[in-house]
Amino acid sequence: MTADAPDHLTDHLASMGTGTRAVHLGRPPHVADQPLNEPITPASTFVAGGDREYGRYGNPTWSAFETALGGLEGGRALAFSSGLAAVATVLDLVGNGAKVVAPRNCYTGTAMQLGDLEARGRLRTELVDVTDTAAVVRACEDAALVWLESPTNPALEIADLPTIIAAAHEAGAYAVVDNTFATPLLQRPLESGADLVVHSVTKYLAGHSDVLMGAVVTADDELHGVIKGRRDLLGAVPGTFEAYLALRGLRTLHLRVERAQSNAAELARRLGDHPAIEEVRYPGFGGIVAIVLAQGAMAADLLTHKTRLWVHATSLGGVESTFERRRRWKAEPATIPDALVRLSVGVEDVDDLWEDLRVALDDLT
Ligand SMILES: *Cc1c(COP(=O)(O)O)cnc(C)c1O
Repeated sequence: MTADAPDHLTDHLASMGTGTRAVHLGRPPHVADQPLNEPITPASTFVAGGDREYGRYGNPTWSAFETALGGLEGGRALAFSSGLAAVATVLDLVGNGAKVVAPRNCYTGTAMQLGDLEARGRLRTELVDVTDTAAVVRACEDAALVWLESPTNPALEIADLPTIIAAAHEAGAYAVVDNTFATPLLQRPLESGADLVVHSVTKYLAGHSDVLMGAVVTADDELHGVIKGRRDLLGAVPGTFEAYLALRGLRTLHLRVERAQSNAAELARRLGDHPAIEEVRYPGFGGIVAIVLAQGAMAADLLTHKTRLWVHATSLGGVESTFERRRRWKAEPATIPDALVRLSVGVEDVDDLWEDLRVALDDLT
């Protein structure tokens, strides 16, 4: 084991449940007077002769987080300063002028990066409807990289990952899955053959709306080395305090996701019966629900200002419930309904969440 892989228990834990792994992976050895948690190590440089040498190349606090996330996804993880830094590093893999296939409704930041790279002639993009598997498979033919998100943010569309990943590989393209929404508890794309998994750690993995961080996970050691090399050069590395907080959050990932998911399923059921709502989108798993207000965008905006518990805020995956009308952002594509409100369901008591929403919705009708 190198200094970058402090995983005395990893072999044991490999056969254990995801909850056990979320709690135990990436901890210091069980040695008298050792702390139970990997400490924050503020260091820009290390004594020469080891694997790290310099603070941009590695840090023990990142390594602990990376061991834990890698163990959950079934690969090797690298931490980044944000989800979008991870996205940029992965997109940097393709050659000049190469084609990237991506969902037409993918996360706006990813869409904006792709648009910017295309506008500057760096690469070409083909945007696809990820629910139309045959069309996506056709688009893969001359691609160098196929970007997938499932469920998509915020349309909550589901992609047939194994089929599309196989088509990407047939074309010799990288298959990348942004697994932010599902988390490794609900979906492990590397097991379906994906080459790279990307996370906005900011969301469910950290889980408390107090950290910006990202990650890339790979199954293949060589690809791990390539991404590590890009990170070393591009320098989009996280702070050690952020890595500490993200790992602290990760310890309860299974509890938070379980609760958020059961709350979301229950709210999706109840919301479906409310006359103020035209459509409820819930893919059947995860903690995100989207609703379309029958009375349009103004009603949607009103709703987000009428609640006491639900916080009007962007982002998602925190312990507290938040919501927003996505089209309030100019970059959000027109394929997202104007009156769509994305709900990030937290881990509160579901009856309190429902009551707060119901009162506000009743007020609209
Ligand atoms: C938020 C988000 C990102 C970007 O992550 P940041 O940490 O905000 O940079 C990427 N993908 C998805 C699906 C997201 O929700």
